Amino acid sequence: MPEGLRSPTVFTPKTVSEAITNKLKNQDARFWAGGTYIMSRPNFYPNPNQRDIISLSGIQDLSRIYHADRYLEAGAMVTIQQLMTMGSFIFSKELYNAISTIGSSVIRNQATLGGSLCTSDRRFTMSCVLATLNAQAEIRMVSKAATARWVPVSKLYDRKGNFLFADSALLTKIRIPTDSSSQMQFISRTLDSPMLNPSEAVILGLQYSVSQGGVTSPSLCITLPNSCFYMSQDFDNLLSTLTFPITQDKIQKVSRRLASDLHLSVRQNTNKLQIERAVRLLEVILTEINTNYLAG
Ligand SMILES: Cc1cc2nc3c(=O)[nH]c(=O)nc-3n(C[C@H](O)[C@H](O)[C@H](O)COP(=O)(O)OP(=O)(O)OC[C@H]3O[C@@H](n4cnc5c(N)ncnc54)[C@H](O)[C@@H]3O)c2cc1C
Repeated sequence: MPEGLRSPTVFTPKTVSEAITNKLKNQDARFWAGGTYIMSRPNFYPNPNQRDIISLSGIQDLSRIYHADRYLEAGAMVTIQQLMTMGSFIFSKELYNAISTIGSSVIRNQATLGGSLCTSDRRFTMSCVLATLNAQAEIRMVSKAATARWVPVSKLYDRKGNFLFADSALLTKIRIPTDSSSQMQFISRTLDSPMLNPSEAVILGLQYSVSQGGVTSPSLCITLPNSCFYMSQDFDNLLSTLTFPITQDKIQKVSRRLASDLHLSVRQNTNKLQIERAVRLLEVILTEINTNYLAG
């Protein structure tokens, strides 16, 4: 080990309560899930200020996964690969494909659901996909009472994509709606690698249904990994005014509004081209939805 470095202390809690107690007593220690993101940071090693580690791998409760009537419930330590294996029987093809774009099989075997939702300043695929699907997250606050709350995934972040509970909560479970009787359609597209090219990548998720010749109950999420997590009830309301056939004029109107919203939402120094890509991506998707509708 290079001179001046010390080994971090590693806590190995067996229960969620123990993990919370470890964190309360060692505020600077960090939760460690698969470690793929933590170890990929440029200053991870060597670093004289290594933070202590609270390993979540020994907490069995966090590795449970099961399918109930209307949702799939997965613990925070379920890996992306385990989610895909279970989901292959349950998820739509589009959802399954969206998750399978994450990293490589080595990364998917190591990276966890909790880790992919809780990175403090970058938003990855799972945040966008699960927020679009209106998935819920159970979090346990780092406090003596360790109160548990269910929060929509969309409310875990601010508009710039910061995780609002970094160091103040442990994410324990996720519930993903899987109601097969619902007529909702889901679309997800990712341009570029959110990890390797975060200042150009764009992730888009859209859930909607079609009824009486129009788009109904739309839920759109656009993520620029290192600068923006965009969901807006107002914008969803605008999408729900779209009726078929969707004309180019209407698409242009929606695009202009999205561009203006994104310019107001992103972090400073955001690549303007990235915003342009997001807007074009939505245009392409609306055109596709229109074509599919007209084709019956
Ligand atoms: C080479 C490479 C390629 C990648 N490609 C993609 C890609 O194409 N698409 C994509 O979406 N992502 C990609 N990723 C990112 C990947 O999704 C994340 O690295 C991963 O999901 C993080 O999960 P983890 O379990 O390893 O988390 P960790 O690295 O262990 O933790 C990440 C953060 O979350 C916190 N944390 C972890 N679990 C919890 C919890 N339960 N409660 C509260 N806080 C917690 C940790 O303290 C840490 O701050 C890639 C990563 C790598 C290394």
